[in-house]
Amino acid sequence: MILTPHILVGATLASKIKFLPLALGLAFLSHYFFDFLPHLEYPIKNIQRKNWNKSFLDFLKVFLDISVGLFLVFILSKNLPLAMAGGFFAILPDGFILLGLILPNRLLKIHYSFHQKIHFPESKKVPLFWGIFSQVLAMFVAIYFLR
Ligand SMILES: [Zn+2]
Repeated sequence: MILTPHILVGATLASKIKFLPLALGLAFLSHYFFDFLPHLEYPIKNIQRKNWNKSFLDFLKVFLDISVGLFLVFILSKNLPLAMAGGFFAILPDGFILLGLILPNRLLKIHYSFHQKIHFPESKKVPLFWGIFSQVLAMFVAIYFLR
């Protein structure tokens, strides 16, 4: 999924679960579960191909995506530090993917394969409606419980 729903789901889990290690652990694991669901994502081909000098627009998309997620958490959350921590843990897996592109390392490679195995196949066609609907639904449910 794109990062905004991941952030909202993580923020909500962290806000609702009283035991912090469990809350952050589940926020982290929620990433894989929500990536497993059918969805569409905006392309970031230049980042994936490590075309760093052409990747400005890709990073801009990612930056805007994260900004929207954090902004929504900022205006909706009643416990900001906790919600932000949850949001952070929920996008950490994609952070590991980016880190693995910049600093290839064995652990990050293992994580990359794991993430790809769980992730809804990028090659699989999803109708536009359902590809967006799954993420809008995830966002609305998360926002409902976050408020
Ligand atoms: Zn992911």
